[in-house]
Amino acid sequence: MNTYLNKRAQGIVPYVAGEQPKDKKYVKLNTNENPYPPSPKALEAYKGVNFSDLRLYPPLAMDKLKSAVAEAEGVSPENVFCGNGSDEILAFCFSAFFDADGKGAAFADITYSFYPVFCEFFGIPQVIVPLEEDFSQDLEKLRKTPAQGVVIANPNAPTGMGIAREEIEKFVARSGRIVIVDEAYMPFYGQSAVPLTQKYDNLLVVKTFSKGYSLAGLRCGYAVGDRELISALERCRDSFNSYPVDTVCQAVCAAAIADGEYYREKNALVISERERLSKELARRGFFVLPSCSNFVFAKKSGLSGREVYEKLRERGVLVRHFQKPRIADFCRITVGSAEQNDALLAALDDFLS
Ligand code: PMP
Repeated sequence: MNTYLNKRAQGIVPYVAGEQPKDKKYVKLNTNENPYPPSPKALEAYKGVNFSDLRLYPPLAMDKLKSAVAEAEGVSPENVFCGNGSDEILAFCFSAFFDADGKGAAFADITYSFYPVFCEFFGIPQVIVPLEEDFSQDLEKLRKTPAQGVVIANPNAPTGMGIAREEIEKFVARSGRIVIVDEAYMPFYGQSAVPLTQKYDNLLVVKTFSKGYSLAGLRCGYAVGDRELISALERCRDSFNSYPVDTVCQAVCAAAIADGEYYREKNALVISERERLSKELARRGFFVLPSCSNFVFAKKSGLSGREVYEKLRERGVLVRHFQKPRIADFCRITVGSAEQNDALLAALDDFLS
């Protein structure tokens, strides 16, 4: 049959986001959303948006948002790039820093599954470096690849494991090429590489408002790095869409990031629930990886990840599993509120008994 699609569109295998079933109400622990609401100051900013101003395009320079990010991160606004979710920023990174048919992008075998999708989309070779047996990342192995650049999720997803800032610094200092650190889950770890961006012009740190700022529904992320890297991202953005961050989003995210105290308190609750959940899962015979994130990655011998997922789903609790080599036995469980975590544990007890 004749097709109107080009070769890329015919062959594309997209990233699959976590499911959003509509058949009933679930305890939703499958997409690493924050269980707590956004800051009251963010709500005020939301209400403060002048509705009739929405006839105008959003502020092109995003001055208020960039200044608020810069203030919170201790950098200058010219070192900040904002985009429509960190996924969009990562897409720009792959297009800006890697050549099609070049030496490729290096990343782990078990990491954020969007990276290979971006590579496929932009025709960038993939240099896959397997994690160790215990799912830690040997950075020396990443460094030894001939790749054009490296992408590291820290903490990693879906393992949840973190790499200390000193290790990242040693790696960046010695790598001599672009290093993109995806810190989507850094609010639950506290080892951000952002301060290093002032010292190393080959380091770009990508962050999001989706997890640590409870604003996944708004779609906003940002990157911090050397001015030349930021300007490359701006040129890529302006080749697709000059206004990816809308007026409401700019106002709400600026207010949210300025309310660090609120989020530190809420994220500390997530961290303490993470520790409780990890212990409770271990008590039920699960092997749980040490998480630095707002989710835990766990498996129980004798059960596949899919079985655990299905049994929980039948009981109204959604988690995520991955049909992939090495991790097919695991489930990724978002840390919810105490009540949500209790519901998960009760559902587990129900089917394990
Ligand atoms: N990086 C990682 C490691 C993630 O897990 C996610 C969430 N799926 C993202 C980036 C993207 O987050 P967002 O686009 O919501 O900012």
